[in-house]
Amino acid sequence: MSIVDNLQIISSSLPKHVSLVAVSKTKPISDIQEAYDAGQRIFGENKIQEMVEKHEVLPKDIEWHMIGHLQRNKVKYMAPFVDLIHGIDSLKTLKEINKQALKHHRNINCLLQVKIAQEETKFGLETNEIESILSNSAFNELKNITITGLMGMASFTDDSSQVSKEFQSLKIIFDKLKTHHSSLTTISMGMSGDYKLAIEAGSNMIRVGSSIFGERNYL
Ligand SMILES: *Cc1c(COP(=O)(O)O)cnc(C)c1O
Repeated sequence: MSIVDNLQIISSSLPKHVSLVAVSKTKPISDIQEAYDAGQRIFGENKIQEMVEKHEVLPKDIEWHMIGHLQRNKVKYMAPFVDLIHGIDSLKTLKEINKQALKHHRNINCLLQVKIAQEETKFGLETNEIESILSNSAFNELKNITITGLMGMASFTDDSSQVSKEFQSLKIIFDKLKTHHSSLTTISMGMSGDYKLAIEAGSNMIRVGSSIFGERNYL
């Protein structure tokens, strides 16, 4: 199946309120251009340098999302153009994003990453840590960032009830925080293997890579 066919099948199956981030990490420019020509406009990368290089040569109306774990010293390279940063897990990182956004007279939208998986390897904040960031006076001084939502990754397991439970837990946290923080509108959850479960649990942004572009080759 071609990239265009895969995209068509996935996007036509999505409810209207769910946006699709096409995760193009490790994939060549030509693959992204193909998806772009088929109408896709949101692309996700997990390495800042790679995203910068792709941004330079591809059409300027692409929305670039950073979905990887951030190296703070590289935030400056994507600050001029990044549209949404998904995986933030500290106030320190938010401060750096704010500083770089200010230099470019921009506001950068950010999602806080919540730890919902059982696995120790997954990054993310606990609920109480999110609350403490959002109520921190230092956070309120960051005028060039907006927290527009939460992001989470479920455990990598075949146990779909476990995965559903983890997604549901993120939705509960989201709904609770939203009552006090009206800027929260996005729940980014769901990947190739689990996006259907994520949507059932209330996701409105999915990040899909291999089901669109094929398996990644890291060699
Ligand atoms: C790679 C990646 C994805 C996409 O994974 P697929 O299984 O290929 O769909 C989604 N989210 C994050 C954070 C990723 O790193």
